[in-house]
Amino acid sequence: MQNDFFPSEKLTVIRDLLAEAKHIVILTHMSPDGDAMGSALGMQHYLSGLYSISECNERSVRVIVPNTYPDFLAWMPGAEQVLIYDEHTEDADRLIREADLIICTDFNEPKRIGLAGERMLENACKKIVIDHHILCRSDADWHAQTVLLSYPESPSASELVYRLIRSLGGTLDLSAATAIYTGMMTDTGNFSFNSNHPEMYEILADLVRVGVDKDAVYNAVFNAHTADRMRLVGYCLYRKMRILPERHAALICLSRKELYRFRFQKGDAEGIVNMPLQIKDVYYSCFMREDKIEPHERERAGEAKTKVKISFRSQGDRPVNGFAHDWFAGGGHANAAGGEFFGSVDEAAACFMSHYLDYFNEE
Ligand code: 5GP
Ligand code: MN
Repeated sequence: MQNDFFPSEKLTVIRDLLAEAKHIVILTHMSPDGDAMGSALGMQHYLSGLYSISECNERSVRVIVPNTYPDFLAWMPGAEQVLIYDEHTEDADRLIREADLIICTDFNEPKRIGLAGERMLENACKKIVIDHHILCRSDADWHAQTVLLSYPESPSASELVYRLIRSLGGTLDLSAATAIYTGMMTDTGNFSFNSNHPEMYEILADLVRVGVDKDAVYNAVFNAHTADRMRLVGYCLYRKMRILPERHAALICLSRKELYRFRFQKGDAEGIVNMPLQIKDVYYSCFMREDKIEPHERERAGEAKTKVKISFRSQGDRPVNGFAHDWFAGGGHANAAGGEFFGSVDEAAACFMSHYLDYFNEE
C-alpha cells in the first residue's frame, strides 16, 4: 500500500496528539450509516488497543453519534457503547466539554452533527478530521484549526481510517477490522461503485487476513430487513416510482402518512434510492421522505410543519451534488448526495420537478 498517502508532517502531529490525549471523543455524522459507524468504531477500537484501555485506565475513548443508528448496524462490535447525543445529551455534552482531543470521521461540517457540533466548537481542544466529502468553503476557518485529512476521492472514510492506522504503524484487532470493512462495504454498495482502485483490494485482503468474516458482515447488513421494510420497498417500486424518461431519471416520494402505514423504522428507507438505477437507461434517482422537524431545526423550519429528507444517486459522469446544494441546502459526492427541504413532500417534489431539467443532462 502507498506509504506516503498522508503527508508525514501531519502524521507526526497526529502521533503526538494521540500520545498526549487522555480523553478522546470520536464524533460522526447525523443519521449514521455504515461508513460513519465503521470509521468511528474502527478508530475507537484501534485507540483502545493502543492505550490498552481497561477498567483502571485513566484514558477514555468514546464514540458519540448525534442520533441513533439503524438496527442493521447494531451488531457492530462496540455499537452498544456508542453514546447517542439525542438520548443522552447531558452525558454527551460533558464528554465533549471534557475531551482533550476530538476526532471527526465521515463529515467535515460542524452543522452535519447538529447540537453536538455547537458543543464541539465550544471546546478549544485539538481536532482531527478524517473525511471524504468535498470541503465546504464556509467552514474554511474551522478546517484551518484542525488536523485535516480530507480525501474526497477516497471511497469511504473507513478506508482512510485504515490507512491512518497502518501509516502510524498500528495494529488492527478483529473489531477494528470488522468496523472498517463494514464502512468500506456499505459506502461502495458492496463494492459496486467507487470501487475500481486496486489498492482497495489490498486493504480488503489485509482485513480478511485479520479475520473479518466478510460473508457474515454482508448478511448482517443486507439480509436483515423486516417484513414491513420489504413491503415498503414493494410499495415504492410498484406505486410510487415516477420515471422521467427525457432525463433518464426516477423520483420516489413518501409522505408521513405512507411511512406510518408501513410502520416505518429508522433505516427502512436505506438503499431504496439506489433501486431505480437497476433499470436500463435510468441514470439519475431521487428519493424523498417526509419527516418530523427536530427541536434543533425549529428555527430553520420557519412556518413549515414537516421536513423532507432527500437522497440523490446517479451513475457515471452525472453529478447530483450541485442540485442538492442549490435547491435542497445539501451536498455530498458527485454520485451520492442529499439534502433537506422544509415543507411537505409534495412541495419538495414540485421544487424538484421545476429544476431537474437544468441539472440532469439528456444523453
Ligand atoms: P444519503 O442519501 O445516504 O442520506 O446521503 C448520501 C450522501 O449525501 C452523504 O454521504 C452526504 O455526503 C450527502 N448528504 C446527505 N444529506 C445531506 C445534507 O443534508 N447536507 C449535505 N451537505 N450533504 C448531505
Ligand atoms: Mn462515508
